[in-house]
Amino acid sequence: MYPGSASDFLFLHECRYVTKVLPDVNPAKQVCPHGSVALFCSDSTKDMLPHEAQRIHPAIFKLAKPGGPLRFVPSSPIGDCYESIFSDIAFGLKETFPTSGPLTTVLIGHYPCGMAGKRTTLTAQEQIHLLIEAKLKLRKRLTQEHPDLAKRTQIVPKMHVAWQNGRQRTYFLDWKNFLKLYPAKG
Ligand SMILES: [Zn+2]
Repeated sequence: MYPGSASDFLFLHECRYVTKVLPDVNPAKQVCPHGSVALFCSDSTKDMLPHEAQRIHPAIFKLAKPGGPLRFVPSSPIGDCYESIFSDIAFGLKETFPTSGPLTTVLIGHYPCGMAGKRTTLTAQEQIHLLIEAKLKLRKRLTQEHPDLAKRTQIVPKMHVAWQNGRQRTYFLDWKNFLKLYPAKG
């Protein structure tokens, strides 16, 4: 198993407790009864959809892909599956849920990710930038190709962290503040 790096864990700790861009999930505010598509990484046995996520998303279409949302970016350094993942998300939203009412797509990144850690030298910060890029790409492409679905679909990025002490949690990613505090380089 890829263990992650001390500097990345330090960065994630800062995100969680200093800059607070990884706040807790609030089930009371985030119930999505009509349906959710959840895209997450399959390269680990860790539970990416913990109990609170099941309560928030009672009707869920699970898309487990190696690398998860980090591969929903054209030319991703991990190797992209941009087209196939987009087809899967659009299928999930269109074919498995009611034809009216709000829907959600949850993009769950995670650290440490074996796919990212073994194939690339991406830091946790760079991985979160990819996750945000995936969110923005999905918004743009859904709007272009399925405007009706785009209007009904909230896209929520989350980050699962398996801390070094064995604790595992899934947090919301406050992506707007993340971009302000940690602008992408180059
Ligand atoms: Zn992974």
